[in-house]
Amino acid sequence: MSILVVGSVAFDAIQTPFGKVDRCLGGSATYFSVAASFFTEVDLVAVVGDDFTDDDLSIFRGRNVNLDGLQRVAGAKTFFWSGEYGFDLNVAKTRDTQLNVFADFKPELSEKHRNPDVLFLANIQPDLQLDVLKQCRRPRLVALDTMNLWIATAKESLTRILREVDLVVINEAEVRQYTEEANLIKGARQILALGPKTLVVKRGEYGVMMITADAVFAAPAYPLEAVFDPTGAGDTFAGGFLGYLASRAEVTDRDLRRAIIFGSVLASFTVEKFSLDRLREITLNDVYDRYQEFRALTHFDDHEQ
Ligand code: AMP
Repeated sequence: MSILVVGSVAFDAIQTPFGKVDRCLGGSATYFSVAASFFTEVDLVAVVGDDFTDDDLSIFRGRNVNLDGLQRVAGAKTFFWSGEYGFDLNVAKTRDTQLNVFADFKPELSEKHRNPDVLFLANIQPDLQLDVLKQCRRPRLVALDTMNLWIATAKESLTRILREVDLVVINEAEVRQYTEEANLIKGARQILALGPKTLVVKRGEYGVMMITADAVFAAPAYPLEAVFDPTGAGDTFAGGFLGYLASRAEVTDRDLRRAIIFGSVLASFTVEKFSLDRLREITLNDVYDRYQEFRALTHFDDHEQ
């Protein structure tokens, strides 16, 4: 089954306590599609400027990522984001956002793209997310990510799109910011009351919590000793999570739980290096090996043997 993702393909400048890079490949849709492509075919819908070279595209080569929906606008620059992290790597501080090509981005889906099995509305302006959803025949699963910027500047638009999706992938701090509720579970219930059936709350180094009307499932993050750059962890998680789900014939509760672990495994690779450098190196075997380690990490017996 295929996934359509719409989101940013970007150049990022990043500073962490461990290093600094002035320009590297980034973007919500970039991380998402590379991660999802380990499990399924991905159609990428995004826009770049003519400063985006064939070399920058090399990340997608040899993967199941279809680039027909990637527009290149002449005479314009690619979206640019600059972020900084202190020792608390769970909190990104945005230093600069230059929309560039994104300022006039109005995604027009081709006929082929209007019929995805799974649609992921990666982090972009919520009106654009709604516009893309309206162009699709109802996908089997529609999921959305967002960020603090849109909660602060476009909350009504965000609420409109939240009412239309099946699944939301969101940071812990964003749940609190959106709902103005200190308790995470109560905040999650408020978002579920809008319509989504599943909420996946990303909690940085503390892992992920999945909340539905009648169940809560929690998974730790893979315990890495060297987290280098957390940029893209959320999008990589979403890619692994939805990529795995898209590869399944139907989505059962067991599939959802496994998908959480595959998402966490892929995100744990992303944070080991800057940009997509680590994702570039790994194979599906590396993913399965770490998945098995994750099983050992979380396994316990509920009675004496
Ligand atoms: P995350 O997975 O949350 O760390 O997302 C990181 C990626 O989000 C970076 O590579 C940025 O290029 C991208 N990004 C940051 N701000 C925005 C924005 N306002 N719209 C779209 N993408 C963004």
